[in-house]
Amino acid sequence: MARKNLDALASQPLEGLRALVRVDFNVPLKDGRVTDATRIEAALPTIRWLRERGCRVVLLSHLGRPKDGPDPRYSLAPVANALESALGIPIAFLADPTADDAPRATKQLRRGEVALAENTRFYPGEERNDRALAARFAALGDFYVNDAFGSAHRAHASTEAVAHLLKPAVAGFLMARELAYLGQALEQPARPFVAVLGGAKISGKIDVIEHLLPRVDEVLIGGAMACTFFKALGLETGTSLVEPDRVDMAKGLRERAGAKLVLPSGAVVAQALAPDAPTRSVARDGIQPGWAMYDVDEATRNDFGTRIGRAKTVIWNGPMGVFETPPFDAGTLAVARALAEATEQGAVTVVGGGDSAAALSAAGLSEAVTHVSTGGGASLEFLEGKTLPGVAALDDA
Ligand code: ADP
Ligand code: MG
Repeated sequence: MARKNLDALASQPLEGLRALVRVDFNVPLKDGRVTDATRIEAALPTIRWLRERGCRVVLLSHLGRPKDGPDPRYSLAPVANALESALGIPIAFLADPTADDAPRATKQLRRGEVALAENTRFYPGEERNDRALAARFAALGDFYVNDAFGSAHRAHASTEAVAHLLKPAVAGFLMARELAYLGQALEQPARPFVAVLGGAKISGKIDVIEHLLPRVDEVLIGGAMACTFFKALGLETGTSLVEPDRVDMAKGLRERAGAKLVLPSGAVVAQALAPDAPTRSVARDGIQPGWAMYDVDEATRNDFGTRIGRAKTVIWNGPMGVFETPPFDAGTLAVARALAEATEQGAVTVVGGGDSAAALSAAGLSEAVTHVSTGGGASLEFLEGKTLPGVAALDDA
């Protein structure tokens, strides 16, 4: 599903036009300050490109999950401050982008100036994908750019309906990058193509496994997810996190996948989840009652490392263990390093999922892979093969 990118507008006269840009500024706040500006920085290439072309830039974003209308705790005003620092220019704040005089305020912006609108979720129509609200948003711009990949799996007024009302409607650079890397991996991967899946629950990733299986050469399974597969093998899993209602599903998947599905050969187990808890390294058929798997063992780390090292395309989603509690971060770190090495050898490596991205960042390896997806839920749905409404609504390439 190729979509028109901002690049496609490069030859058109954009000078003076108002670019309405949906960004994902759903950033963490503490005491009225942005504590992690990664998502703001991710949108800068699109904002800068538009400013350089003389556009007036009007930004829309949601923040958190305000329940009943405007709630100062979820105001984007602190984000405007962080954006001012990032861009080095004053930012106009539209306290009510749905007000009758809001379009006039955007027309009063000068070329290259930037305005940020208040939280789209303050308005009840946003999550209902309401057309009337979308029309109010559309009145704030002369064309539409969606750079909020992380929100593209939701059909909301600021991501979906508005894209039908304001044309052209194109993908921003961040969105385009996400679609290019994730899309290329799924549609024309250089082989071998290896997926590494982990995390807490098999239930949340079953559709990803299903969609990836026919496309990949191997799926390496780690995390607590592996324990549900162990159970399906009839093994003792002790107090490991197992989803009993998914054991049959795991059995079926394993039978269909054959040798493509690679499970850990062993586990690092403990009786309690604590940094100082005594640990043991056991083969996967050696987990004892009262003990839980919190990480993959060294043999598995080496095995996964070898398989990732052979790959030309790698997608990684979900940590291999409880990486938040060392020493159970070893498996996750090993996968992060293996991806970095594979990238150095020329492989395309893509990391999706909030926790995996956090682990990668903690290891200082975010720059060492080809692409880190900014959209947790959106990248999962993409990998499940679902159509993202925010993407589908953009103009065909
Ligand atoms: P992502 O955000 O990258 O998609 P998930 O949210 O699916 O990843 O899973 C991350 C969580 O999985 C982490 O909090 C981690 O502690 C947990 N996890 C991984 N392995 C295990 C395990 N063996 N037992 C319990 N929890 C685990
Ligand atoms: Mg997560």
